[in-house]
Amino acid sequence: MEKIAERLESVKARLARAAERAGGAPDEITLVAVTKTHPVEVIRKAYDLGVRHFGENRPEEALPKIEALNAQLDSEGLPKPTWHMIGHVQHRKVKMVIGRYALIHSVDTVKLARRLDTRIREAGLDVQPVLLEVNVSGEPTKYGFKQDELPGAVEEILKLDRLQVQGLMTVAPIVKDPEEVRPVFRRLRELMDELKERFPEAPWRHLSMGMTDDFEVAVEEGSTIVRIGRAIFGPREY
Ligand SMILES: *Cc1c(COP(=O)(O)O)cnc(C)c1O
Repeated sequence: MEKIAERLESVKARLARAAERAGGAPDEITLVAVTKTHPVEVIRKAYDLGVRHFGENRPEEALPKIEALNAQLDSEGLPKPTWHMIGHVQHRKVKMVIGRYALIHSVDTVKLARRLDTRIREAGLDVQPVLLEVNVSGEPTKYGFKQDELPGAVEEILKLDRLQVQGLMTVAPIVKDPEEVRPVFRRLRELMDELKERFPEAPWRHLSMGMTDDFEVAVEEGSTIVRIGRAIFGPREY
């Protein structure tokens, strides 16, 4: 556990240096600590170290942990952190994710967007901020919109008034040298610039890109949200 403090400091320092190289301020980049597979005690440790954004990819794992942490924080009069849904949303789990997360990073089909919109309206919940996941590299095993289907999908999704599209997200391929995925991050930024021009009605502001192995390169290419697990919490055990 003591290691989390050291690792977090190191990640923050690397993030700040990368932000400087990109010509921005480190506080313009949101660090989402990815806590999948880790228990509530570990999440609480990071919270006590000042982390206020957490990410999980499976709602059935996340919701009990979110509730347990909230109960602790409530009883101590402490503010709740912000939760991010970063994993693929299965259609049968749409009801589990609505109204639970400040931002859903992983809307990857028009069908899923429509289903979320319908359920949010039925439940009388507030507009849900979302990002659209893009499979920039075109790997067949990855979720996300292909580049060429993105404009058509955006046009449809912007018609859904219970979702607010705030940007794009991608997961880069696993490579040895992070420099190899720089073009992926650069392309995501270009795609958002193109969408900004074509659909100025949406508040395009977030590029969720960069993980443990590649976050510095992602920040240099304009990331506004990095999602970091192992560099803070160590290796995951399944
Ligand atoms: C697990 C996960 C992360 C964090 O990965 P690390 O390599 O541990 O930093 C980021 N994004 C998504 C979508 C994930 O599933």
